[in-house]
Amino acid sequence: MLQIGVIGAGVNGIASAIKILEHFKNVLKTPVQVTVLSEEFTPNTTGDGSAGLWGPYLLGGTPQSKVHQWSKGMHCFLQEIWLSEDAGEAGVCLLPCVRLTTATNTHVEDFWRDIVYGAVDLTPDQLAVYNKERTVKYTSGLSFITYTSEPRKLLPYLMKRFAREGGRVERRKVTDLEAFVRSSTFDVIVNCTGLGSEELLGDGQMYAVRGQVTRVKANWLYQAVLDESDVGNYIIPNTDTVVLGGTHQERDYNTQVCPQDKQFIINGCRQLVPGLANAQHLFDWVGLRPGRRQLRLEAERRGNKLLIHNYGHGGSGVTLAWGCADDVLQLLLSNLELKSKL
Ligand SMILES: Cc1cc2nc3c(=O)[nH]c(=O)nc-3n(C[C@H](O)[C@H](O)[C@H](O)COP(=O)(O)OP(=O)(O)OC[C@H]3O[C@@H](n4cnc5c(N)ncnc54)[C@H](O)[C@@H]3O)c2cc1C
Repeated sequence: MLQIGVIGAGVNGIASAIKILEHFKNVLKTPVQVTVLSEEFTPNTTGDGSAGLWGPYLLGGTPQSKVHQWSKGMHCFLQEIWLSEDAGEAGVCLLPCVRLTTATNTHVEDFWRDIVYGAVDLTPDQLAVYNKERTVKYTSGLSFITYTSEPRKLLPYLMKRFAREGGRVERRKVTDLEAFVRSSTFDVIVNCTGLGSEELLGDGQMYAVRGQVTRVKANWLYQAVLDESDVGNYIIPNTDTVVLGGTHQERDYNTQVCPQDKQFIINGCRQLVPGLANAQHLFDWVGLRPGRRQLRLEAERRGNKLLIHNYGHGGSGVTLAWGCADDVLQLLLSNLELKSKL
């Protein structure tokens, strides 16, 4: 039986593990054992603090065509869940969104506008509403509808789905990848360690992109507002709470809550939606996004083993997870030697 080990239980590790397991079991009808090995599981992965809004963000120089393909894969997956009986459990919601920019020479970056629903540019009158109290004016905006899949719900749902199909989990930190590949019984190893790859592989292209957010109670809010400028804020409702953001500090590894960042977040978000002044503060959170010059999704041979890398998803790990998992599966299937083993 083919033995596959996935290192990392973040959204990309779990998505890759499920994708492989379900394909082998339900499409190829071939026995396979998939094991997820990870130092941390939900609720302690990077995605757990995020709002899980669909939207490509902070992806370095990753080619746009790949980002489009991967993010479309996730959008289709979210649509499937949304239309299924699992939507509530998986925390998948449809949400109206407004993205605003202050850039003078460009519109809101929207190479993905064909993926989301009902994308239209804001009219000057609509833009004026957001510009009322501002000195630096927004120059354009895009209104559309997309999904949130808050990882605090999505990850437990995916873990359950993985276990139901016979997937195994093991809490373990891999400290020496070469020794692990050589000595383990896995035929294929999928590396989804996110920022952990910086240490595990000595990958000098990796860097943390620190993100601090505040969660508040504001159950009357049903719209995401995102300021795309470098010093912009964002507001993203989840099912029970609303995420106010946020920072994106490159090469900052500080996981402590910073009071100045908190003030920036609260003041900026109140300017966008004044009603937040009366929202109940719940907690603050800091996470380190797995930044990389380019997302790494490729396979390499190590002896008679296949090692597939899937890490460096920056600020879009949730947005890309299912699409990237698709490519992980294709890399696995296209390996001729493995094909003959099926
Ligand atoms: C504030 C903030 C807001 C965000 N908002 C969004 C959003 O709205 N939408 C969106 O798409 N993305 C968002 N992101 C980005 C998203 O959270 C990340 O891109 C995503 O979580 C990365 O997932 P991952 O599975 O690749 O890595 P991780 O979630 O970091 O998982 C890595 C896993 O590998 C394990 N691991 C690491 N090293 C080892 C090792 N040596 N041995 C064993 N296990 C190991 C870890 O324990 C963990 O389980 C946000 C991030 C932040 C910080």
